[in-house]
Amino acid sequence: MPELPEVETVMRGFRDAFEGHRISHVSVNRPDLRWPFPADLREKLEGRHVLSFRRRAKYILMRLEDGWSMLLHLGMSGRLTIGRAGTNATPPAHEHLVLETDSGARAGLVDPRRFGMVDLIQTSEENSHRLLAHLGMEPLSDAMTGPALADLFRGRRSPIKSALLDQKLIAGLGNIYVCEALFRCGIHPERRTCTLRKEETGALAEAVPQILEQAIASGGSSLRDYVQADGTKGGFQDLHLVYGREGAPCPNCGAESPIQRMTQSGRSTFFCPTCQK
Ligand SMILES: [Zn+2]
Repeated sequence: MPELPEVETVMRGFRDAFEGHRISHVSVNRPDLRWPFPADLREKLEGRHVLSFRRRAKYILMRLEDGWSMLLHLGMSGRLTIGRAGTNATPPAHEHLVLETDSGARAGLVDPRRFGMVDLIQTSEENSHRLLAHLGMEPLSDAMTGPALADLFRGRRSPIKSALLDQKLIAGLGNIYVCEALFRCGIHPERRTCTLRKEETGALAEAVPQILEQAIASGGSSLRDYVQADGTKGGFQDLHLVYGREGAPCPNCGAESPIQRMTQSGRSTFFCPTCQK
């Protein structure tokens, strides 16, 4: 599944190609993904100028003139291929939506498993959309501070790993980045959330955005079928210190303490039992 850094990378590629241009043509090639495409999608998009883009958690929002926004989620296997209109004679399989601009840019939404979604909403009501309304703190924003995390964590007895994955607390953080952040901060994934000390919430508030930025800079994690906007593979997996490295020597304390894997809430957690307390 594309994680936040991949979605940010896709959003930036989409923005670079579409912002400031007019949507000249829209093809909707099937009635639905996870849910039906809005019946008036083509009518609302064609002829409109694209004003700006925004990412919220793993959602991409494209703002148009006339106060409409297109909301896009890539689901489990979706990708957005950005290219030039008219150069791609054979569209790829599973390309369900194509947008073209009057400047010749083309965006194709390819989603073989169709867990993605597209919706239209009023820009002024973006934050109250049913899929966005309950999302927590944006990890790449000024809201992400040690004291803010401490507030969120107060009284929570669940393991810190579950708290960091809880989208109602912090939006858009996935398994890989949570494992990496906890390792970098020396926090054991099973620690009860409410036991984190001030220094630890402060360290997390720094480590989480740092790891996400690092991943964005390298083009996202791309573990499985995800490819970024221009079709190339991302390279963040080369930067993983613990994720997927069960049995490898800990990069911090060395060969005597190999990285371990355990299962928490059905997901794999990778950690160093020596460095993470
Ligand atoms: Zn270690």
